[in-house]
Amino acid sequence: MHRPLMIADILTYAAEAYPKGRIVSARTEGDIHEQTYPQTLARVSQLAHALAGLDIQPGDRVATLAWNGYRHFELYYAISGSGAVCHTINPRLSPEQLVYIVNHAADRLLFVDTTFVPLIAAIADKLPRDLRFVVMTDRAHMPDTGLPGVLCYEELLDGQPESYDWPEMDENTAAGLCYTSGTTGNPKGTLYSHRSTVLHALTTGMLHPGTFHEGSRVLPVVPLFHVNAWGIPYSAPMFGVDIVFPGGRLDGDSLFDLLEREKVVSAWGVPTVWLGLLATIKARGRLPEGFQEMIVGGSAPARSMIEAFEDMGVTVCHAWGMTEMSPVGTHGNLPIWARDLPRDKKIDLKVRQGRRLYGVDLKIVDDEGRRLPHDGKAAGELYVRGNAVATGYFNDPAASAKALDREGWFGTGDIATIDPDGFLTIQDRSKDLIKSGGEWISSIDLENAAMAAPGIAACAVIAVPHPKWDERPLLVAVPEEGATPDLAEVHKLMEGHFAKWQLPDDMVLVESLPLTATGKVSKLTLRKMFEDYTLPDLR
Ligand code: AMP
Repeated sequence: MHRPLMIADILTYAAEAYPKGRIVSARTEGDIHEQTYPQTLARVSQLAHALAGLDIQPGDRVATLAWNGYRHFELYYAISGSGAVCHTINPRLSPEQLVYIVNHAADRLLFVDTTFVPLIAAIADKLPRDLRFVVMTDRAHMPDTGLPGVLCYEELLDGQPESYDWPEMDENTAAGLCYTSGTTGNPKGTLYSHRSTVLHALTTGMLHPGTFHEGSRVLPVVPLFHVNAWGIPYSAPMFGVDIVFPGGRLDGDSLFDLLEREKVVSAWGVPTVWLGLLATIKARGRLPEGFQEMIVGGSAPARSMIEAFEDMGVTVCHAWGMTEMSPVGTHGNLPIWARDLPRDKKIDLKVRQGRRLYGVDLKIVDDEGRRLPHDGKAAGELYVRGNAVATGYFNDPAASAKALDREGWFGTGDIATIDPDGFLTIQDRSKDLIKSGGEWISSIDLENAAMAAPGIAACAVIAVPHPKWDERPLLVAVPEEGATPDLAEVHKLMEGHFAKWQLPDDMVLVESLPLTATGKVSKLTLRKMFEDYTLPDLR
């Protein structure tokens, strides 16, 4: 039979198959909240009725701006399950980008955590006039928002029926939308379907049979607002795993306490977060009880961090992927032949980006698009293909036209080698972007802004390695004759257009910028020149 792969079926299945499965959340209200999968399904049904009551139609975009928590999880299912599109928004973007995204997506409703209400209130007059706002809390905790016609999440659910007749749709119907940074200009929207989402949950959920099973507990630090928390909202209920959501408290001490209190087995997130946890573990001299496995990705983790966790008995699985891949592409589980290797040889494998998932094809190509061998030596641009890989961008014909090559493969903008055992190693990035703490900064946008500063004749922004944030932006500028440009002035020009954390950490003045054969600034040479540069906060 052909049965459509539907997102709502994951939760109705979990409620029946794993009635004791739980979602535990550190809430913005300050306490720890728990509910089972059946209770979650009842609330998701109420929410779906409420969406219908607000006239949300199939295909409408409904946005979220929220931490990892049960209400955000409920929105994932109620919105997609009822035929609308769940548009997760990243609160770390600049106000300008938030305004662009909400308008571009033409969101009809915006669900917002109390934390982010001020962010929205500040830009409310630039958002679509018919956009309605819902604050994700109960009446007792409703802040004074100043937002017109604002609604309260728990009041929306109150009194609604606890079951819902989930519609059966074409499995290719759009279900989710997540914007990702372009190398320049505005972010681009990646659209996920019911089919791609379900298949991604199946393939990622199968990867960790020792830790990803009924009764086990997973903690996604990776946000629901970026890359769908690596698919955990779908894979965990599918496999009967409990989810522990950390809310907004992501420092090492808070994570340690939550991991221990909730006996979390496996935690997933970017390297920056694990460095914080590692500091707490070192300070307390022990691991959180029951903590066995860490999935790290989004940026390359330092070898020393992998070693530190492994030496304490935590299995580190280093994965790679991207928003446009739903997002997981490779995983770092060791193959059977590697399990008895000496410790250092195992770490050699774990620092690499791992092997492909079922359903993901990888190829590397040279500048002319010719395939390169998977011999572990030839490095080229990495292209991917798969049933959870995007073919283009939402309502963005220009960006979509550039997404795929002639063979229909998606260009990742990463430079990689692949060895005969299938291990991927990311060596560099051809896209002009900087990834700090798991979030993007466009070097080109910063350069354009910096060029407006007095005294700058030419400039380039490059990523400089940073032990905590992985990468930070450095502005390399050629001054106009006799001028001494000032970083504070450059920052002033950038404010409002960029989030504070996106501004360059430092500016270095040079006589000229290195150029490539075609006369472009050679970022590769610049990155090499400044690879040992010590940023101000590390001096
Ligand atoms: P995003 O769409 O925000 O998830 O970013 C995807 C990009 O992040 C990839 O194309 C890589 O450039 C980078 N990335 C993700 N995971 C890793 C990793 N494990 N190692 C190195 N870079 C990574």
